[in-house]
Amino acid sequence: MTRILIIEDEASYRETLAFRFTKDGYDVQAAETGEEGLEIFRRGGVDLVLLDLMLPGMDGTEVCRKIREKSAVPIIMLTAKSTEIDKVVGLEIGADDYVTKPYSYRELLARVRAVLRRRDVDSAQIPIKDEEPLVCGPIEMNVAEHQVFVHGNPVFFPLKEFEVLECLLRNQGNVVTRHQLIDRVWGADYVGDTKTLDVHIKRVRSKVEDNPSHPQYVTTVRGLGYKIDDPNAD
Ligand code: CA
Repeated sequence: MTRILIIEDEASYRETLAFRFTKDGYDVQAAETGEEGLEIFRRGGVDLVLLDLMLPGMDGTEVCRKIREKSAVPIIMLTAKSTEIDKVVGLEIGADDYVTKPYSYRELLARVRAVLRRRDVDSAQIPIKDEEPLVCGPIEMNVAEHQVFVHGNPVFFPLKEFEVLECLLRNQGNVVTRHQLIDRVWGADYVGDTKTLDVHIKRVRSKVEDNPSHPQYVTTVRGLGYKIDDPNAD
């Protein structure tokens, strides 16, 4: 049974979500605060987190960061604010998706199913154990183990960021268009907000580049897309 953890301080939202997801066959756990939510999460077995952005005490961004330090579990942010900046913030801290309140349950259920489906597709792929790591300069990716090392140090990549980097590495030296990246990483689930890809590229750069504001590995090819290359290679 798929277990959903709902972290939401407003009782009406929390109870409605718990009721409806339970009715749809999910195993639901609910928490009123970020602290309580993390406590439940640490006990294990959670397949997806619905996380309210505005929480008393530890807020949603902090809870998301804490979960991301340890886990790639799918996280959907529930946000009352609809400005683009909040959406961007949600994705920058490693959430997989977001919905803006007031949302319809149908829409949220569709997002939950989409995120879980992507996870299932990814985990169903048979890892090719003997595959050579993908390497570009100081960046080394072991696809089967879902590991990335930069200058030999392990760096955590949430699923989407991992896939963006993987796609670039598999096409090393060649331009990957924005369209190709979106298609490969998000497919039909891309919400059409052009900022989503930019945010993920920015996150990837912040992890692999020595100076993220002057990237030397993941470069922008104006009007086309992105490319990964080692400028120090022959
Ligand atoms: Ca709230």
